[in-house]
Amino acid sequence: MTAATLRTTRAFAPPHVARPHGPSAPAASADFAALLQVQGLSLEYATAQRVVRATHRVSFDVHEADRFVLLGPSGCGKSTLLKAVGGFIAPVEGEVKLDGRAVRGPGPDRIVVFQEFDQLPPWKTVKENVMFPLVASRTLGRKEAAERALHWLDRVGLARFADVHPHQLSGGMKQRVAIARALAMQPRVLLMDEPFAALDALTRRKMQEELLALWEEARFTLLFVTHSIEEALVVGNRIALLSPHPGRMRAEINSHDFGLASQGSAQFQAAAQRIHDLLFEPETAADAQVQS
Ligand code: ADP
Ligand code: MG
Repeated sequence: MTAATLRTTRAFAPPHVARPHGPSAPAASADFAALLQVQGLSLEYATAQRVVRATHRVSFDVHEADRFVLLGPSGCGKSTLLKAVGGFIAPVEGEVKLDGRAVRGPGPDRIVVFQEFDQLPPWKTVKENVMFPLVASRTLGRKEAAERALHWLDRVGLARFADVHPHQLSGGMKQRVAIARALAMQPRVLLMDEPFAALDALTRRKMQEELLALWEEARFTLLFVTHSIEEALVVGNRIALLSPHPGRMRAEINSHDFGLASQGSAQFQAAAQRIHDLLFEPETAADAQVQS
């Protein structure tokens, strides 16, 4: 890589932001490091019969305010990667670092929104659902938590539904509550695992639009998993392409030029086709491309 390219890369990196962890801040050399670093991550499941390797030596960097997408076919280890970033699975190889520190377990700085509509405890009202992690993690007292919950419910257009129970909401509304709950925690990284995959096409598109609008306002850092090429192009500014099982990095693509407005354009279709080819071309050819 030339010096000029390096400078360009740095210029795209967001400015250094004060870290909330105080005096134990990482060494000066880490100042240019990405907010989230995934380095050589191999992840496995041990079943009674055998060990299943879910990902093999996956590396990528997520910078502050990135909308970074992990894209790959079903079973390639996307959810497993997200669980490792969440701190729920320990790597057999490699490391996840947040703010320069190795991730050793779950924490309120990483919140996950899942695909399933049943991620909200049904016995709590919408407002109580959003308040719960704030109170449980002792981030806020009940009064402040209630205020913040209402603020975020308002941002996702659900202030009127604060006192109803999740079963009274549609799938899209439940996902909005899950997003409000996650953003209310102000995580360093918002992790989303195919959050719109179970929605009908129109609602899915609406939710993508709303997520992007929220990002425009709040500029949170997003790590978003999907198996939809179109969704990756619309939601992401950068996309990591993963090979089929076990997941390896195939390529990384810049997608900040694309959004909902460009969906269907010739340029968008060409990018989608290129990603499709990269994802599904034979392993050896793809590996050569990544290394070149
Ligand atoms: P994706 O989210 O990309 O569809 P996953 O991360 O869910 O993929 O799974 C990656 C691989 O790990 C798959 O082969 C899957 O069968 C396997 N796997 C996932 N969860 C478990 C588990 N709890 N036990 C054993 N194997 C698992
Ligand atoms: Mg998955």
